[in-house]
Amino acid sequence: ANAKILISACLLGHPVRYDGGARSARHPALDRWQAEGRLVPVCPELSAGFPVPRPPAEIAGGQSGQAVLAGAARVITTDGADVSDLFIAGAEIALNLAREHTCRFAILTDGSPSCGSRFIYDGSFGGGRHDGVGVTTALLRAHGVRVFAESGIGELQALLDMGG
Ligand code: SF4
Repeated sequence: ANAKILISACLLGHPVRYDGGARSARHPALDRWQAEGRLVPVCPELSAGFPVPRPPAEIAGGQSGQAVLAGAARVITTDGADVSDLFIAGAEIALNLAREHTCRFAILTDGSPSCGSRFIYDGSFGGGRHDGVGVTTALLRAHGVRVFAESGIGELQALLDMGG
């Protein structure tokens, strides 16, 4: 009944984003789940060994996380470094954590090349977005974890309240 939920650490206010900030989400359901000890925070990029701050990264060529996992697209930084392997390593750490805690659900920060689920940036570093997913989201979904963006917290709450 009290299923655990994997969550992007930055949504809980951990200052782990590339620019040293957080992306704290506010929602009464989050407060409740946290009080119930159900939230399992993870930052895939920090887990993979990236520092804070770090250069911004995007999935190149308007591709998505699935293509990165398949070796058909790369994650690059504004410095031009190929960081695909580290992004995949971070995704694997997140998946292992989800398995360890039997999380069937995740709430991940939208727009991130790791955690995005409704949109990501297109690799041009010009602010262009498209509907794709980050590398961690792609790996979690491939293993049956249902990933929600922070804008989907209400949707997840409704699902869980119905016993989903
Ligand atoms: Fe947040 Fe995910 Fe980026 Fe870590 S990798 S800072 S958890 S969006």
